[in-house]
Amino acid sequence: MARRVSILGATGSIGQNTLDLIARAPDDYDVVALTGAGNIAQLAKDAIALRADVAVTAHENLLDDLRAALAGSGVEAAAGTSAITECASRPADWIMSAIVGAAGLAPGLAALEQGTTLALANKESLVCAGKLLLDTAQKYGTRILPVDSEHSAIFQALIGEDIASVERIIITASGGAFRDWPLEKLAEATLDQASSHPNWDMGQRITIDSASMFNKAMEIIETHEFFHVSPEQIEVLVHPQSMIHALVGFNDGALMAHVGPPDMRHAIGFALHHPERKHLPVERLDLAAIGTFEFRAPDEVRWPALRLARETMQAGGMTGAVFNAAKETALDGFIARQINFPQMAHVVEDTLAQMFASDGHIDATMTLDNVLQVDHLARKAAKAAIHKRAG
Ligand code: NDP
Ligand code: MG
Repeated sequence: MARRVSILGATGSIGQNTLDLIARAPDDYDVVALTGAGNIAQLAKDAIALRADVAVTAHENLLDDLRAALAGSGVEAAAGTSAITECASRPADWIMSAIVGAAGLAPGLAALEQGTTLALANKESLVCAGKLLLDTAQKYGTRILPVDSEHSAIFQALIGEDIASVERIIITASGGAFRDWPLEKLAEATLDQASSHPNWDMGQRITIDSASMFNKAMEIIETHEFFHVSPEQIEVLVHPQSMIHALVGFNDGALMAHVGPPDMRHAIGFALHHPERKHLPVERLDLAAIGTFEFRAPDEVRWPALRLARETMQAGGMTGAVFNAAKETALDGFIARQINFPQMAHVVEDTLAQMFASDGHIDATMTLDNVLQVDHLARKAAKAAIHKRAG
């Protein structure tokens, strides 16, 4: 029987890679919903080709355009953030959460509340509300499967293992666009330079986050939330080739590494077919031809994001929501050319300091409303910090 699937963020990099896998076996899937935001042409084209029940854009002002693009196809059109959450709660067997940013949290929770297996690429939702997501999955008896390549690698290395025998988890980082730049040149880094990744082809925001290491910082927190290991057990290793995605170290000294090409269709396909493994159209590595893998310790002066992630985990509570909102706002500021590249970390640091100094928001109970409230306050504080830095 065909499996009912929905893809949130279908027009993005992860979404398109997911559709690539689904389109290779169309009879195996019954597509319920596809969502996007600004890219109406792609959304409509894919919804028609895959005969989705509904296509949803996050932007209400684009509903007419979406309706026009879907005219005569029989695909329903909807718009707005609540329409995205509504479509995430339509009955489905598997849902891909690949919206970028905290906007992915409410739809992810809605899917879990329906008992739908959640393939989670949207790391922001784990960073801002990891406990809430995992508790919701437990309450409704459903599962979250990691799609971030490092976390898929860890998940795979842990199959059949007892988490109690894990000593450490090592996640690798390519080092991004500015790995070898002189530190004093970073303030001159342009948006174009930050938006090109040496190994991975990804959305613009995560590509810039890779250059600043905020992506890895988010992934440290993601590892802590998802696998329940302590911050001290999580290490980052710079590995320029991006072929070893993560390593799990056990109490007998063994390190289990996951090796594969830098192609997100592996992690997406693993989550799509779990618990089976099926053939995937990814490159088979020729290790003899590659010859060498390099490793380096990360430089926390170059990448202060790593230290900020550790401070965030140490503070606990809803500090992750502050960290994520500050990071997203700082990134907006860099994209809008209001602050320079190193100032993104300064803005996050200023925002964390300000939120720690204010009243007890970060200690409140973690509910969706409280997370959204902290997210809102942190964005406001981060905007003020950008203003101050830019001024
Ligand atoms: P993209 O920017 O390529 O795509 C983002 C998707 O989200 C698009 O479909 C976009 O719509 C949609 N979107 C944007 N803003 C909103 C909003 N406010 N509400 C609803 N939908 C919105 O991002 P990626 O595919 O690169 O990343 C998606 C997620 O996966 C992120 O959380 C990222 O960190 C994570 N991830 C990505 C990896 C990668 O290789 N790309 C690897 C590991 C994790 P539209 O394009 O129509 O405007
Ligand atoms: Mg990753």
